[in-house]
Amino acid sequence: MSSLNKFFVPKEQIINNRLTLTGSDVSHIRTVLRLKAGDSIQVISDSDKWLTVRLVEVKAKEVHGEVIASETINLESPLAIHLGQALTKANKFDVILRKSVELGVRSVTPLTTERCVVKTHRTEIDKKIGRWGKIALESSKQCGRSQIPTVAENIETLETFCRRNDNQDLKLVFWEREETKTLKDIELNAEPRSVAVLIGPEGGFSQAEIDAVRRFGFQTVSLGPRILRAETAPVVALALLQSLWGDL
Ligand code: SAM
Repeated sequence: MSSLNKFFVPKEQIINNRLTLTGSDVSHIRTVLRLKAGDSIQVISDSDKWLTVRLVEVKAKEVHGEVIASETINLESPLAIHLGQALTKANKFDVILRKSVELGVRSVTPLTTERCVVKTHRTEIDKKIGRWGKIALESSKQCGRSQIPTVAENIETLETFCRRNDNQDLKLVFWEREETKTLKDIELNAEPRSVAVLIGPEGGFSQAEIDAVRRFGFQTVSLGPRILRAETAPVVALALLQSLWGDL
């Protein structure tokens, strides 16, 4: 991996191998990194390319650069993991989102469930959704991913998530009361290429919720005999899934 400083620039901002950086990237380049015209940066775009960009002009509000090299990369896992994560207290959801992006998740959907204690009125939700979008972008940039995982634009119910993910190869609900079945015990006809994953809130899923998601074809799976904290469970689940059928 190149040691150049990395920036994420949407592909619409790169025209004929020339690009313009604006906003917080400019102050980062000028005042934090103190880069000047002639220095190079790495640009990750929402394509499968990493670009080496030479700075041409560093101005107060804009930085202009030109692409001098490009390299095709693929950091996306062959296993598309769609995480349905119940809302958790304080900033735990932010932490889960960051870790999930690093672990190669394809999408993260915040869920409201029976035992969620997090406020879900509109203004709070809008604020959170804005912040989650930024976290997904920042975390992707930091770990070098060019495809930013989707963070659903709304908080969904379990039912909506289950219906939307009906066609995934595997559908799993991690449940601390599942005593026998772990990921290793899942019977498969073919290697799964996509999986929908449900993780509950601090208070866990209710029996009625487990019964309901089972009716949508979700299998209950254990993450071992110990109860993991709400912010630990998704990290362990994603790492195991990537190790079994993805790219870890
Ligand atoms: N309130 C529950 C209890 O004390 O029994 C624990 C809920 S746990 C903190 C939050 C979520 O993490 C659960 O809903 C489940 O999805 C997942 N989880 C935690 N430990 C697990 C385990 N050993 N096996 C499967 N899932 C687990």
